[in-house]
Amino acid sequence: MSGTPRIVVLAGGVGGSRFVLGVRAALRARGIDDTAAALTVVVNTGDDLWLSGVRLQPDVDSITYALAGVNDTERGWGRQGDTERVNHELQEWGAGWPWFTLGDLDLGTHLARTGWLRDGLTPTQVLERMSHRWDLGARLLPMTDAEVDTVVVLEDGARLHFQEWWTRHRATLAPARFENPGVEAASPAPGVVEAIADADAVLLAPSNPVVSIGPIVSVPGVRDALRSTSAPVVGVSPIVGGKVVRGMADVCLTAIGVDTSAVAVAGLYGARERGGLLDTWLLAEEDEAAAAEVAGLGIRSLVRPLWMTDAARQAALGAAALDAAEV
Ligand code: GDP
Ligand code: CA
Repeated sequence: MSGTPRIVVLAGGVGGSRFVLGVRAALRARGIDDTAAALTVVVNTGDDLWLSGVRLQPDVDSITYALAGVNDTERGWGRQGDTERVNHELQEWGAGWPWFTLGDLDLGTHLARTGWLRDGLTPTQVLERMSHRWDLGARLLPMTDAEVDTVVVLEDGARLHFQEWWTRHRATLAPARFENPGVEAASPAPGVVEAIADADAVLLAPSNPVVSIGPIVSVPGVRDALRSTSAPVVGVSPIVGGKVVRGMADVCLTAIGVDTSAVAVAGLYGARERGGLLDTWLLAEEDEAAAAEVAGLGIRSLVRPLWMTDAARQAALGAAALDAAEV
């Protein structure tokens, strides 16, 4: 391919950010210095919420901090070296959620964002402004400018914000379903559909299929854009050896009646040639035996190492995804 390729990645938070780091590294390894011109990340905003008067965007922040190199890699969320003085004070006031920690540096992000939202900027404009602080090497777009938080509906009809279900209850309450109220009326954020339409490759990060990729493709217009782009659509399995690597995708998949397996997730996304989203599915070496079944779904499968446990493995996976898309 001549010139700068245009790569679009759909991503959630932690799995998403590791993959995006890998794609950025793989682009750099191909001699593309201006990765910000090459790489657009459409980020899940279904985890977002209002708390203590500020707007939190967990997946947006995970990706921003990871690309900036200021994320807490040990804890897996928030800023490196953060403190919790403000959080402690909020708890003394009985404000916010006692089981939900907001770091001081992180709160700086939320305050800046909320201030700009209050000034009338859209979430897309806020994210663009926030992207100037660091050299992220990618353009970040929220999936939508609308507020479509994720609600977990339990068997007894109780409704919890996704963050409460996950952070407070550690996904121990069996969900009946997940809802994104208002998503039917939402539109893709400006630039999302265009980026997908003009892409040379669209990559689905190994993010949670139900609560990260699910909300993005539920925004009306995104699925059609994926279906109609001339770019190959390559997905990476978040399930390795029949297990979630980290997080609660198994509980989420069970709730929607999908097995925790690489094949079942491929089936959930579906083959583009049969009305679904995928041309190619990257399977872990541990799931090699499932390749024929994936092929039976009408999706080409490629067996690759899918662990993203260090920078070298992330870059190798990024390169494998770009190769699969013939970039
Ligand atoms: P969240 O928004 O922070 O929950 O993160 P994502 O939705 O982006 O990613 C969570 C998913 O990433 C989990 O379901 C994991 O299965 C997947 N994941 C995490 N680490 C790895 C890895 O090293 N390899 C692969 N293939 N998937 C991973
Ligand atoms: Ca998330």
